Amino acid sequence: MGLEQSSIAVEPGADANAHESISASPMPAHLDPWERRLLADPNLLGDLSFAMGGPFHVMYPARVGHNIRAFRAAFTRAGVHGTIYYGKKANKAACVARACAEHGAGVDVASVGELTAALAQGVRGPDLMVTGPAKADDLLWLAARHGSLIAVDDLGELERLAALTSAGEPARVLLRVLPAASASRFGMTSGEIEDALALCGARASIRLEGFSFHLSGYDAVARAELAGELIARCLHARTLGHPATTVSIGGGFGVDYVPADAALEFAAGMGRQWFHSGKSFDSYYPYHFPVPGAAMLTQILDHADLAGRLRDNAVRLAIEPGRALLAHAGCTVFRVQGGKTRHAHGKPYRLLTVDGTSLSLSEQWFDSEYLPDPVLWPARPGTVTPTCVGAASCLDSDMLSWRRVPLPRPAEVGDLLIYPNTAGYQMDSNESAFHELPIPPKVVLHDAPGERFRWTRDGS
Ligand SMILES: *Cc1c(COP(=O)(O)O)cnc(C)c1O
Repeated sequence: MGLEQSSIAVEPGADANAHESISASPMPAHLDPWERRLLADPNLLGDLSFAMGGPFHVMYPARVGHNIRAFRAAFTRAGVHGTIYYGKKANKAACVARACAEHGAGVDVASVGELTAALAQGVRGPDLMVTGPAKADDLLWLAARHGSLIAVDDLGELERLAALTSAGEPARVLLRVLPAASASRFGMTSGEIEDALALCGARASIRLEGFSFHLSGYDAVARAELAGELIARCLHARTLGHPATTVSIGGGFGVDYVPADAALEFAAGMGRQWFHSGKSFDSYYPYHFPVPGAAMLTQILDHADLAGRLRDNAVRLAIEPGRALLAHAGCTVFRVQGGKTRHAHGKPYRLLTVDGTSLSLSEQWFDSEYLPDPVLWPARPGTVTPTCVGAASCLDSDMLSWRRVPLPRPAEVGDLLIYPNTAGYQMDSNESAFHELPIPPKVVLHDAPGERFRWTRDGS
């Protein structure tokens, strides 16, 4: 099925693949009302692009507040004492940490930079969770000073923390558990947990408040079952005299990017014939996710009455959503800088160059592609045109969209391409000043009277 450039000259009908479309099937993203308003505004996007002079991200922190409220409502409905810690690595924007502070969510951090950035936006020390393997002494000390909850990943780290703190102000600790049969490099085995319990008992400078885990994948049942095991660990720790009252189930709450029918059609038809240079990817994020975010939390709480067991044993459930707290809270805007016509199986398609790089749309750096289709702005009538999107760098492999996206008309220089729903991991986890291109700024939208937006640049 390989589709090399040399097959360009194939006559229509003369090739086994000629009947197949060279265009990927559409993957239209769910758009939030604020995104529709932004896209419908005749001027705002164009003016922002003019002002920024290059690619930029748009953040709408009100939607982060909405996502926090939805998680909290799921806890309330289940009658469970729950705490939300935003997994900060998913987006660096100051406005997200600020939204957490304003809406009563904590933040999950893994570096001194993340910790101080959260404090600077008004998140208080005791509302921080500190995760990550073998954390630096500087980070452990600062976290203990601020009364943050520290998820300890190994015994050596626990020893170092005990030496950095005192009985007068003990460090608040969760022990991170390595799930049975997991090959993760994070967490402690059952034997190591037993040793850690003994160490916590022997050191007055450690206060053991519970246990944590973070699973890859998006399985609600696996999370509910492991949470049940961690409740049992809390009860055991209490018999040893520890105030173990918290179980943290980490992040991994899904986000629903595209409708089910679009995802099904894509999966059924996908092949190298849809991609520039016959590129293929082994796997994709599950862009259609039927039970996302807070609904997935409800599913976890309902499984085998986890909610009842948390209540009966007076255990607080902590969650650390990154991606899901950012669902529908941002998008990324590139300007079309050039375009070529290329052919595959004798059929033409457009190969664009935009003014930024795939460092601002991170999925390519995880050997995959971001599948929600970019929106071409401004909307004008035209002919559907299969379009690949390349970056403004000198790397042949630096593409934002290898697949031929069916744009509603041929894109022209000066048009904008808006990649929707990019706040979670896509926009800034991989950005650097590659080629000495400036790192794209973040524009923060606020609602203003009269259905208008006002904007600022993000404070980070
Ligand atoms: C990355 C991470 C999270 C956030 O994960 P999401 O999939 O974005 O929800 C939460 N907790 C820990 C320990 C993490 O490493």
